Amino acid sequence: MSTPFDPRNHVAGPDELRERAIAITGAGDGIGRAVALACARCAANVILIGRNSRKLEAVHAEIGRAGGPEPSIALLDLEKALAGDYDQLATGVLERYGRLDGLLHNAGILGTLSPIEHYDVPTWCRVLHVNVTAAFALTQVLLPALRRSTDASIVFTTSNVGRRGRAYWGAYAVSKFATEGLTQVLAAELEGIGPVRVNALNPGRARTLMRRQAYPAEDINTLPPPEALTGPYVALLGPASRGVTGGSFDCQ
Ligand code: NAP
Repeated sequence: MSTPFDPRNHVAGPDELRERAIAITGAGDGIGRAVALACARCAANVILIGRNSRKLEAVHAEIGRAGGPEPSIALLDLEKALAGDYDQLATGVLERYGRLDGLLHNAGILGTLSPIEHYDVPTWCRVLHVNVTAAFALTQVLLPALRRSTDASIVFTTSNVGRRGRAYWGAYAVSKFATEGLTQVLAAELEGIGPVRVNALNPGRARTLMRRQAYPAEDINTLPPPEALTGPYVALLGPASRGVTGGSFDCQ
């Protein structure tokens, strides 16, 4: 009997993602930045997607200093982007790479921690839009490029609160439940008809701005840095997870 796939403790090889074009949202900070650097160390052509050009340029420069393949920068504010912005990104990917081999939906916002009874409605809409609707729209527009790969992987970012509801986590928790649902629906639609697999990955607690926002009194030194969590992302984005689809996995 074969062992079920588990991305934890995956140790990424230096050439593991060579010749693969991998797009990452929220690549300027936190987990997205760490995964972008890790993918470039594995020789991937990374497409850095985000809303803050200064942060993205810093990651671009860091990859250059480390001797990685030159990445691309795609400015896209997931709260404000319109159809034309998504189309422009997809056209740019096809023009530069001819296909897309990996897509990591990592960008996200926390919103506020508040009881549903008092949850601010505009904040609710913003969180659901950035965390779910924008990821859906980006997936849809990039599917033609993913289908041109021989081994493509879409990874959505989930969370413990997207698997079991927790009081006061409001729109964020609901958005992560929706992310789990989107992963399952899309995986079922694509299974067996092409090269695109779809999975969800839960980083678990990590030393980032979002975690600090959620737990302001916590000692951040007790948390793993994002750099310590990149192995499972490389595993799910690259050849290690070939044939695995519709799953929801953990980094820790
Ligand atoms: P983070 O440091 O706050 O990073 C979030 C990223 O999303 C940033 O790069 C941010 O860009 C980007 N982003 C936010 N709004 C955006 C928008 N409108 N358009 C484009 N990009 C936008 O948080 P993180 O902890 O690394 O979170 C990464 C993912 O892991 C999220 O999906 C989160 O839900 C998930 N997660 C995190 C933890 C944890 O403990 N940290 C646990 C479970 C799940 P800016 O830099 O421009 O703001």
